[in-house]
This record gives sequence, structure tokens and C-alpha cells, in this order.
Amino acid sequence: MSRVLVIGAGGAGSVAVHKMAQCSDVFSHVTLASRRIHKCNEVAQSVKEKTGVGIDTAELDADDVKATVALINSVRPKVVVNLALPYQDLSIMDACLETGVHYLDTANYEPRDEARFEYSWQWAYQDRFKAAGLMAVLGSGFDPGVTSIFTGYTRKHLLDRIDTLDILDCNGGDHGLPFATNFNPEINLREITAPSRHWENGEWVVGPALAHKQAFDFEAVGPKNMYLMYHEELESLAKFYPEIKRIRFWMTFGDSYLKHLEVLQNVGMTRIDPVMFEGREIIPIQFLKALLPEPSSLGPLTKGKTNIGTIATGVKDGVQKTVYVLNICDHEAAFAETGNQAISYTTGVPAMIGAALIVTGQWQGAGVYNMEQLDPDPFMDMLNKQGLPWKVVDLPAPLSF
Ligand code: NDP
Repeated sequence: MSRVLVIGAGGAGSVAVHKMAQCSDVFSHVTLASRRIHKCNEVAQSVKEKTGVGIDTAELDADDVKATVALINSVRPKVVVNLALPYQDLSIMDACLETGVHYLDTANYEPRDEARFEYSWQWAYQDRFKAAGLMAVLGSGFDPGVTSIFTGYTRKHLLDRIDTLDILDCNGGDHGLPFATNFNPEINLREITAPSRHWENGEWVVGPALAHKQAFDFEAVGPKNMYLMYHEELESLAKFYPEIKRIRFWMTFGDSYLKHLEVLQNVGMTRIDPVMFEGREIIPIQFLKALLPEPSSLGPLTKGKTNIGTIATGVKDGVQKTVYVLNICDHEAAFAETGNQAISYTTGVPAMIGAALIVTGQWQGAGVYNMEQLDPDPFMDMLNKQGLPWKVVDLPAPLSF
């Protein structure tokens, strides 16, 4: 039984602590810290109502390494689960090194002034975590996270060699609002408006953002248009699975969402550089975030399902095969259980599972790890038990696009 500190009281953090409270045989004591204490207290109240378990809360600016070190020293957790924003990754990793505590997150570091998320900054911590005998697990959300585990599982059990990999992310949920993002708007819009990139024959193929459209019929959702885009797990999958010749990531967007996004981009509202407004600097995308609905407010409104999975082609026992590993998650069921919609649920549950595998010693190691480097079996097992059941479908033929 272990103590755990979760940083970030947004949608993902809220789900993670609800699930940790359900697993009190693994997590003896949960502390939730975030920038604004009232958010932590709201989550703590919901956890108490839904599970009967009391958790501690604390106010913390995780950009401040000294303050984070002090909090870790007073909480004495076995692992810190970072569910704040990607901007805080390095300062929280520094605090973990200083206090001798394992680290886990769901999104790779991104500097505030440049939409350039990549693993180089966190991979640079490899030697320090190794020397300290500590484990840093990167990207334990759904994508990255479960999709990386699905790939590891495919390679371990379903195919002897993977030739191509497509990650398909479909949110079939409808919140009835004209425009909202289902996780942090600033992070979400920076990701979506970046140029598309996929891995093919040992190099990155770059294209314009959201220009390559493909229709796909998703189980439990129906036909949707999905778009080729860059996503952070492509970088680590290309590094750790050099045998895979082509890796692509696809995400669905509705026409109305794309229309709003295009207008916001055209008028400069998604810019991340400072502009002068009435004598002071503002960053347009941060102002836009203040106008958009908080993702957590979408919980009670969202109906429908998500369907996220990996389609791999390759060879098993000398025979060419195509295998699809997927999870379907229901927004309303996620809300009933944790007070958050499925996007937060599919992020927070894997974060809890990753933390559970570290504290129970099922995942061990010293250094910085991406999810696809770790044993997928105990993780796949817990997904089935913790609300994200998956299945494997043998497809009759590879994707035709
Ligand atoms: P939210 O914006 O809902 O929550 C982020 C929380 O972090 C907020 O409560 C915020 O506080 C807090 N926070 C921000 N800055 C600081 C700081 N300096 N110190 C302490 N707390 C801080 O985001 P989500 O819950 O949707 O996402 C959390 C993380 O999960 C993000 O990194 C996101 O990129 C990642 N993610 C990963 C996915 C995956 O599948 N791998 C999918 C979706 C998200 P406040 O409320 O005061 O602003």
C-alpha cells in the first residue's frame, strides 16, 4: 500500500483520484495538489460522495520546483502523477529527482512559447533517473499511453513483426455546444493546428494541418471523417519499433468544429506569441481559452462514445495479418462514475493504472521509459478491470488508404 501525490485538478486529475480512491488496496493515501485549491477541494468532495474515501488537498504552483519539493517531502508519496500541463513536466521531474520519488505523466514537455512537443527534453533526464534508481514513466494516458500499450501487446502476442501501424482516435461524443475542446483548449489547439507528420520508411513525411481526410466506420459510433495529424506517441513508437515501416495517427473532427477552428486561426486567435492589447501584452490562445467552456463543464452535457484503437499489419507464424485492438468508452457512463466525460476518463484511468503498476512493483526499472518499452500484460489486465475494456478484431484485409 502506497501514498500517491497527484498534481493537476483538471478533468484527468479528477478521474485519476476517483479511481485511486476505488483502489484503496493499492493507494493507501491520496493527495491532490493544483494551482487553485478550490478545484482540488471540489474534486475531493466528489471523491468522498462517490467512494466514501477522504483525500488530502494542497495548493501548489508546480512551476516552482522548491515548493514542489517541499510538498513531496511533506506528503512522502511513492510516485508523483503529473496531470497538470505539459509545461510543468520538467519542473516536476526535477522535484522528483531531488526527493527520490518515481514520476509519471500523460503528455510530453512543451515549451510555452513554441508549439513543439517532443520527447528530447525528457529523454535528457535518462541518466539522472537511472543514477537515482528512480523510474519516470512518460505518456500514461490513452494516446499516448494505451495506444502505445496496444502496440506493445500486438507485438508481444498478435504479430511476430509489425509492418504498418495506424492509430485511430474517434470521439463520437456530442456536447451540443457550437465549439469547445474536450481537454485543455490551449494544449488541444496547439496540437491540432500543427502541421501533419507521419513516419514512413525511416523518415518523417510532413504536410499541412488537417488537409488529409479519410472516412472510416467506427464501431459503436458510425461513419466519421478522420484527419491525418501528428501526435506525440509517433516519435517514441518510431524510435522503439524501428521495424515498423509506416506509422500514422488519425483523429476525427466534425465539420462545425473545423469551421470554427479555421475562422479562429484566420483571425489570429490561436496565436501563441504575445500581442499588445490596450497597453499590455496578451497571448491570443490564452485569451481564447478564457472564453471557451472549461472541458470539465462538458461532462454533464456529453452523450455518445469514444472509440480509440490501433490497426497493425504484419506477420504471425509466416502468415500476413491485420489486427485491430480497440476500446470503446461511453461519455455518460464515465460521467456517472467520476463526474467527468470520456476524454478525461480515458486519460485518468491509464494514469492511475501506470501509477498502480509502479507502486506495486509490477513495473520496475531505473531511468526514463515510454509506455511501449514496458510489459503490456499487467496494464491490459487492469484496463479490463478498471473501466476501459478492450478487444482484438482480426480484419480481413489491410486498410485500403
Ligand atoms: P485541465 O486543463 O483540465 O487540467 C490541468 C490542471 O492542471 C488544472 O487543474 C490546472 O489548474 C493545473 N495546473 C496548471 N498549471 C499548473 C501549475 N503551474 N501548477 C499546478 N497545477 C497547475 O487538463 P486535463 O485534465 O484535460 O489534462 C491534464 C494533462 O493530461 C495535460 O497535460 C494534457 O495534455 C494531458 N492529456 C493527455 C491525454 C492522453 O491521452 N495522453 C489526453 C488528454 C489530456 P487550474 O485549474 O488552476 O488552471
